[in-house]
Amino acid sequence: MASTRPRTAVPEQLGFDGMPERLFVCTPSKLGSFADCPRRYRYSYVDRPTPPKGPPWAHNSLGASVHTALKNWYALPTDRRAPGALPSLLKSTWVREGYRDADQERATFQTALQWLESYVATLDPAEEPLGVERVVATKTAVLAFNGRADRIDSRAGDNGAEAVIVDYKTGRSGLDADDARGSMALALYAWAAQRVFRRPCYRVELHHLPTGTVAAHDHTEESLARQVRRAEDTARDIMAAEKAVAAGADPDAEFPPNPGSLCSWCDFRRSCPAGAEAPAKEPWTAVDRLG
Ligand code: SF4
Repeated sequence: MASTRPRTAVPEQLGFDGMPERLFVCTPSKLGSFADCPRRYRYSYVDRPTPPKGPPWAHNSLGASVHTALKNWYALPTDRRAPGALPSLLKSTWVREGYRDADQERATFQTALQWLESYVATLDPAEEPLGVERVVATKTAVLAFNGRADRIDSRAGDNGAEAVIVDYKTGRSGLDADDARGSMALALYAWAAQRVFRRPCYRVELHHLPTGTVAAHDHTEESLARQVRRAEDTARDIMAAEKAVAAGADPDAEFPPNPGSLCSWCDFRRSCPAGAEAPAKEPWTAVDRLG
């Protein structure tokens, strides 16, 4: 979301006595939540108690199950990283919530297993990533960023070993290079990984398991810096809204809704007057007719 608040570079980071203000502690999903819909951000991170959420989504269960299976695949000794290990890996951490019934859940399990089998066939079992579900954290003048990258690979680059950010995707629609290029989350992971591992990290990849495709982008120093500035702008907007509310401003005005197609999939649709018009989705709608 484009920022609407006037900004100045340095003074805005200083308190009335010249002391730096606290850094904004954030993850990519926290920043993304505000960028998608400030009202949803408020429901998730500001309002206490948190407004009631809808029931769990089957597609989130599916995504979590697949991510955990891949994490545990890499936790195996290299000589046991074989497709035959996948059924028990997937079964042991399968998340059951949100499905319509046992038949749908069983069919989705089989689909997920096929995705995983096809995907691990493209991997070198002997290759150890730099990190799997690895938290990377770093600071800017505005942000204290931390995030958990699905995988960080080590690959040969023009100037020696480089880090590569890998993000698994399990949604229905495919992804392209523009998705990888435009992702603030991936850029922030790359930017943080450079600092954590002290090596170049410019390449970011979205691995879409349902289609077995990889959408990639090679960042530059400038494009990473641009994404960091974007994240800082979002953080400043959030801090300004939170400060205004603390000073007595109307929370509804400071965290406006951004109704649209996301509302049907929003956990807070039932709590949000702006989302009431959005067509309701069943918790299992997104996994229906998978495969
Ligand atoms: S229902 Fe729509 S407008 Fe309301 S919080 Fe969710 S995404 Fe925002």
